[in-house]
Amino acid sequence: MSIASVNPSTGRTLRTHREFTPRKVEAAVSRAWAAFGDWRARSFAERSRALMRVSAVLGRRVDPLARLATDEMGKPLAEARAEVEKCRLACAYYSRRARSFLADERPPGSPPWSRVVFEPLGPILAVMPWNFPYWQVFRAAAPALMAGNTMLLKHASNVTGCARAIGEVFSEAGLPDGVFTTLVISSGRVAALVADPRVRAVTLTGSNEAGASVAAQAGASMKKGVFELGGSDPYIILGDADIARAAEACAASRLINAGQSCIAAKRFIVVRSALGAFEREFTARIAAARVGDPLDPQTQVGPLARDDLRRELSRQVIGSVRRGARLLVGGHPIDGPGFFFAPTVLTGVGKGMPAYAEELFGPVGAIIPVRDEAEAVRVANDSPFGLGAAVFTRSRKAAERVAARLEAGAVFANDFVRSDPSLPFGGVKQSGHGRELGPQGIREFVNAKTLWMR
Ligand code: NAP
Repeated sequence: MSIASVNPSTGRTLRTHREFTPRKVEAAVSRAWAAFGDWRARSFAERSRALMRVSAVLGRRVDPLARLATDEMGKPLAEARAEVEKCRLACAYYSRRARSFLADERPPGSPPWSRVVFEPLGPILAVMPWNFPYWQVFRAAAPALMAGNTMLLKHASNVTGCARAIGEVFSEAGLPDGVFTTLVISSGRVAALVADPRVRAVTLTGSNEAGASVAAQAGASMKKGVFELGGSDPYIILGDADIARAAEACAASRLINAGQSCIAAKRFIVVRSALGAFEREFTARIAAARVGDPLDPQTQVGPLARDDLRRELSRQVIGSVRRGARLLVGGHPIDGPGFFFAPTVLTGVGKGMPAYAEELFGPVGAIIPVRDEAEAVRVANDSPFGLGAAVFTRSRKAAERVAARLEAGAVFANDFVRSDPSLPFGGVKQSGHGRELGPQGIREFVNAKTLWMR
């Protein structure tokens, strides 16, 4: 079987990749297992130097890596460059801090002859999505490798070129064979890897369908898993908010990566006193966004990554309008080659509409009017997801009050939600479980082993 990369700006096939044969996959798993023995025995200083070499290779390859991501999944080139640079931050962060995050502990109240040590688990299978084809991989790999694990990557099929390039970065940095390996396989072959006794854990970032399926497989073979799934982040705009600032942050967050980010702003929950002003300011910014060739430096919004994603977004917009939502701008695919969709604002969104209940993975903002703060919090939590959330208000007290009541892995006040290597990232409810990044991220794939030394 072969896997195709299609340029979403043109709809043309860029390249086809031949899938690994079962024998090649078996050899890769064997190497990952064999490499683990030596890699775990190396000091933090050695692993840290290796990861900094990875960062240096990324630094040398920023431009070709960025161009490859833009060609394969359509993000504007400047965003792709920034993404590669962010991977270097994750490498530097864990290179510097892994040793202290995994230092032996004497928990308060424990006997003086006991301690807790943190040991790696073994080969970790990473199943990753296309929307941040480098960042998603490096934010999982940097902590896992620094902890002494090895990694096998099954990347999204449409970014197989990026997946191969990541494998080459690790090789060029001189990491021992088997410490990081890219597998070119379709999703149907993930189950066998999860069940393989040499694969000790799995981390998956992607849709809820994929997450539920792989989590069930991991459960059946008692494997630890981290699952970073979908989101429908609510952005609450209270009556006292600085509306221009809120609209600016909301539009930026809704349009980044053509709206294809798990932590993009998706539902705008606006109290009635701020509704008119927010609709005007937000819609003006969405309408002004420049859509076009992601290689053009002026472009702010590129195509969606695949045509099936564009059809799904159209279905959600049309379904919401049929049930009473009003279009303030956009609402349709853009004619011509490529998978472009017009930046869109829906208002009057309410229960029973796709835009209320489902994740909108594209440049479509859904405004949900509410009476007051209490109703805003209720609506924000009336979602199967719980990834990020934001609140806009001039009152610190109100921000703290709302933040405490939101069911989310992160709440930002007067700013849009973003990931940072130093802070834990992940969700609650259907957005998944486990954490990446920060000190929590590196503790996911280790054995907290109790030692009792009399
Ligand atoms: P996806 O279709 O679920 O794909 C993600 C990965 O899972 C790909 O490698 C895919 O391989 C694989 N996969 C799909 N179905 C599978 C199955 N049944 N068994 C095993 N593997 C399977 O998701 P996507 O369309 O790439 O990404 C979009 C979704 O990811 C959105 O819902 C978004 O919110 C979520 N996401 C979440 C986060 C987060 O941190 N919470 C971050 C980014 C994205 P193939 O490509 O070969 O099918």
